[in-house]
Amino acid sequence: MNEENFIAGIYNYCDRWCERCNYTDRCRLFFADAERDIQHIINDEDPHDPKIFTKDIEDNLNEAMQMLMEKLKEMNIDPEDIESEELPPEPDFESYPINNLAEQFTKSMDLLDKLYDLYGEKIKEGLLKESLTLESREINENLSVLGWYSPQVFVKTKRLIRAHEEYLAQEDEEMKEIDEEELFVTGKLLYIAVTNSLSALNNLHELCPEFNFEIPEHISLLTRIKDELLKMYPDIPEYKRPYFD
Ligand code: SF4
Repeated sequence: MNEENFIAGIYNYCDRWCERCNYTDRCRLFFADAERDIQHIINDEDPHDPKIFTKDIEDNLNEAMQMLMEKLKEMNIDPEDIESEELPPEPDFESYPINNLAEQFTKSMDLLDKLYDLYGEKIKEGLLKESLTLESREINENLSVLGWYSPQVFVKTKRLIRAHEEYLAQEDEEMKEIDEEELFVTGKLLYIAVTNSLSALNNLHELCPEFNFEIPEHISLLTRIKDELLKMYPDIPEYKRPYFD
């Protein structure tokens, strides 16, 4: 693969759903993952074997470090300047209502397992026989969306709070601009995770009458998370990530 073909740092702006991404052929991260998978097949290695798994994690960390160095170089930042900076204190997450709502939402997401228990087998059978009804296809699609985005809600909320505090504490003007970009990218990714999960839940509410009593409570939690996010950053929906929006 020609190095120049990669778009530097594109994976910093995406939702990591590579299966649905238009940039797989321009993304270094995707390429590295695919290359590793091929190596496992050639070497007849089981990626779940603890030794192989540990080595993959080490390789991932090395790659992440290499990518970070590239990003810093692109921004004309000397890594030593960062190393000498003091780490910011851990945010008081519980003082943020959005954190507590996201935690509550995550804890309640055993709903996804229950939905899969009821519909997963039927969908799998239909997929194997290529005989899925339109309704099953819709359930399958909405379950995939919910399965992908709902776990991101809590993770991105934590990341947003951290980025929010780092941005407020930053005194260097140049670094503040960089922190602001990270803050908005994280906020937009959280917004996408929340709105896509909300839309999937609204559709499932119509498609899965067995869950009529449970789903509204999840919709209400997510709506409150969205409201809190927009209270903190009202411009997030309009923010455009490079390449993706
Ligand atoms: S940019 Fe696309 S291919 Fe690369 S990690 Fe993100 S989703 Fe996957």
